[in-house]
Amino acid sequence: MTARRTLIAGNWKMNGLSADGVALASGLADKMKAAGAVDFDMLVCPPAGLISKVVDAVAGSGMHVGGQDCHMNEKGAHTGDTSAALLKDLGCSYAIVGHSERRTDHAETDAIVAAKAAAAQAQGLIAVICIGETEAQRDAGQTLDVNGSQIAGSVPEGSTAANTVIAYEPVWAIGTGRTPTSAEVQEVHAFIRGELAKKIGADEAAKTRILYGGSMNPKNAAELLALADVDGGLIGGASLKVDDFWTVAQSA
Ligand code: PEP
Repeated sequence: MTARRTLIAGNWKMNGLSADGVALASGLADKMKAAGAVDFDMLVCPPAGLISKVVDAVAGSGMHVGGQDCHMNEKGAHTGDTSAALLKDLGCSYAIVGHSERRTDHAETDAIVAAKAAAAQAQGLIAVICIGETEAQRDAGQTLDVNGSQIAGSVPEGSTAANTVIAYEPVWAIGTGRTPTSAEVQEVHAFIRGELAKKIGADEAAKTRILYGGSMNPKNAAELLALADVDGGLIGGASLKVDDFWTVAQSA
């Protein structure tokens, strides 16, 4: 089996002001420093306006900081957007793209997500490309089809295990406290790896980290993270408290 380093990623979404963000980041950085060598990567993705403060707060801890989105263009007349170049400049090493909340709230299509992922990769960032079916799609038996077509459409040319992470996030599991069964998660992850192999080749697909996201928490993390094709988690609610997020990370 190809060794893949576990990635524990926190998506803070639109939560926190300066003091909260710095306290959360510093609390996690202290845990990381006290732990010494750990066998997982830890990433936090704060709101864009907090990135600089969080980068400063985690300095020297080994933690990574990422954006929650980036624009597909390098720069220009795109009011309110953030470029991948600016994320990189501020100290980010990752950018989430295609989160279901962006796909829904901002009508982001697979083609837009692929362009954003390519923009992130072009700046040397690792693109965390989110995919996942809605509840209606799952009920209609379309889970594999939907995730397969999102892999085909959202993963840009030039993607490799080094510049890409996939996050499988069933939309109906995000923020709801509901998760698929472990068998269902493993089935979808193994399927995603197979679809990824068609896109980037079997060798790269075998090395690419596929995260599970959707109500991962301190209680269910160990079981989910132990699954063969689950290489980490993308965590929303449970990433907003130092102890919860640290417990999830330690379950890796
Ligand atoms: C997310 O939004 O990426 C997420 C997984 O949220 P939660 O953990 O709160 O379900």
